[in-house]
Amino acid sequence: MTRMLPLIFSFTPLWATASSLAPFNDPAVHPLAATWQARVRLINFDRTQEEKLWHAVKLIQRVIRSAEFRRRVLNYKFNGEQKFNDSGGLTNDAIYNKIFEGVETIGGSPGDNGMDVELELYHQATNTIGYTYPTAQRIWINTKYFSKYSPVKVADNLMHEWMHKLGFTHDTAWSPERDHSVPYAVGYIVEELAQKI
Ligand SMILES: [Zn+2]
Repeated sequence: MTRMLPLIFSFTPLWATASSLAPFNDPAVHPLAATWQARVRLINFDRTQEEKLWHAVKLIQRVIRSAEFRRRVLNYKFNGEQKFNDSGGLTNDAIYNKIFEGVETIGGSPGDNGMDVELELYHQATNTIGYTYPTAQRIWINTKYFSKYSPVKVADNLMHEWMHKLGFTHDTAWSPERDHSVPYAVGYIVEELAQKI
């Protein structure tokens, strides 16, 4: 099943329950925060899976628009320095900007101001949660994990994969340093803040 659903959320009811995060119109957040959108194409999702995914996308939207997310990204430290690992030479501020500009390496264009992705569910009895290729617009997600993940965990995973789409990479093998790469670290920040919503 292929469905193309542009996600444009109404903010008042969402923010009414987001008591622990500052509202998106906080002067401390990015000027493009209020207009940031997710445009997501879903492939092989059933109704329940679709709802979980939308929930995760809403969590991402609410988290990244918060002043707390801005503080966490701008103040991120790796090896005692204010930076991420595998930052591609970008400062924390530049990484924060990139998230709101939302120009994907493949298929992105100036003025995107959001997440433009294709997500395809597949099932495999492996330890791969999801994957993508630098040359693909699509992100593949393993239902083995997706099915048992909470929307908060799906939000972490989706944010991680989307950071790849924005051009960030990390080592293949696990290391303590890898957790500080942009995809892992920003995914963890989203997960932690989404838990407060
Ligand atoms: Zn990754």
